[in-house]
Amino acid sequence: MKISFAIIAALAIVVAFPVITFAQTSPRYDLLLKGGHVIDPANHIDDVRDVAVFQGKIAAVEKDIPADQAGKVVDVSKLYVTPGLIDIHYHIGHGGAPLDWFTPGARVHALPLGIPADMALQAGVTTIVDAGTAGADTFLQEKEEVIDRSRVRVLAFLNIVSNGMQGGLEQSLDEMDPKLCAATITRYRDIIVGVKTAHYWTALPWDAEHIPWAAVDRAIECATLANVPVMYDFWPRPDRTYEDLILKKMRPGDIHTHVFAQQFPIILPDGKINPALAEAHARGVIFDVGHGSGSFWFRNAVPAQKQGFIPDSISTDLHTGNFNVVSMTDVMSKFLAMGVPLDDIIRRSTVNPAAEIHRPELGTLSVGKEADIAVLDLMKGHFSYIDCGVARMDGNVKLEARMTVRAGRISYDPGGLSMVEWEKARPQYFNVLDKGEALPPARADDFPRD
Ligand SMILES: [Zn+2]
Repeated sequence: MKISFAIIAALAIVVAFPVITFAQTSPRYDLLLKGGHVIDPANHIDDVRDVAVFQGKIAAVEKDIPADQAGKVVDVSKLYVTPGLIDIHYHIGHGGAPLDWFTPGARVHALPLGIPADMALQAGVTTIVDAGTAGADTFLQEKEEVIDRSRVRVLAFLNIVSNGMQGGLEQSLDEMDPKLCAATITRYRDIIVGVKTAHYWTALPWDAEHIPWAAVDRAIECATLANVPVMYDFWPRPDRTYEDLILKKMRPGDIHTHVFAQQFPIILPDGKINPALAEAHARGVIFDVGHGSGSFWFRNAVPAQKQGFIPDSISTDLHTGNFNVVSMTDVMSKFLAMGVPLDDIIRRSTVNPAAEIHRPELGTLSVGKEADIAVLDLMKGHFSYIDCGVARMDGNVKLEARMTVRAGRISYDPGGLSMVEWEKARPQYFNVLDKGEALPPARADDFPRD
């Protein structure tokens, strides 16, 4: 009955108002990014295209979409338009960071570890994945306090340590419960994409409570139960070698983050790249950057890149220890400066990380997908970059985000690409706002319809 009534009602409207169409009364698109160079590796697009958005979704990616079909048109000529970037190694959350993996046993609750999730939008990032800041006992707090309130999309790797990274319990085997970890992943499968293991017993002698592979083995046990990948932060030792990790322990689809950290034998004494990397890659092991405050050394990255090894995904490992020197576009710029082509870098910052976390609907500008878009500026000039060993590399290119669109909304636009020149602003711009009145018309997160 309900269906037939709806059909009759719809027919009645069509018959009663035959000459009124939506095309004449309202724009076909909410937002049109016009004239940009689109790089969308998932759809093999690397050319000038217009990108239209309607109701939060990508509506069209075509040449010459007429400007009068959109409520808001933004000129992005001379800029690159890419899928919103995906940073699969980020840290959100609250509380004090123990930072005790450098000085085992010494708990230093000096710094909160997590940084604001929405800060990622400043670098064109529309999806971040928290890399195990929370575990089974602390995830709900992280979800309610940060994930549910963020504008940027937040997913997470769950720490195998129930207490997560922030309570000083990362070395306790009692905290590593694979069944509890898997049950938590199952419960929050819409958010949690994998398991994280990190910082486990990096220097002190082994004892009954601390055995070489305990954290890795328990993370794998949880991941097998929950059918998700593991992300590994790892410190090799004589009884726990790097080759054993990437050639034996890691499963196809598992992710080795911090690949260019100082502790990994990426480059052998003869200057050649460690053949174990290619062997591991061939068996499905995934390599991720995870730059951070201590995990990116040019002495590993540059010779590796020259010999053809580029990590599958680019990520920041942003936390309070490094947010002033690292952003997603900064890390991408380092690879650009090393000579990696831009389209390849975009691939490793969009479609690749989406695949690694089994979210193929992300990292693409496909029509119908959520409109997450980055507008990037490729600048030429004299720039220099730093690594975690207090060393510098000079370069002549730099990538910066000019605008970020998240779910169809302009969420970052510091240069006012989408805004009207102040002298041409609408009348209310020149009035003093009443208390409580929303700021018109050019808040970056609204579409000013001028
Ligand atoms: Zn991290």
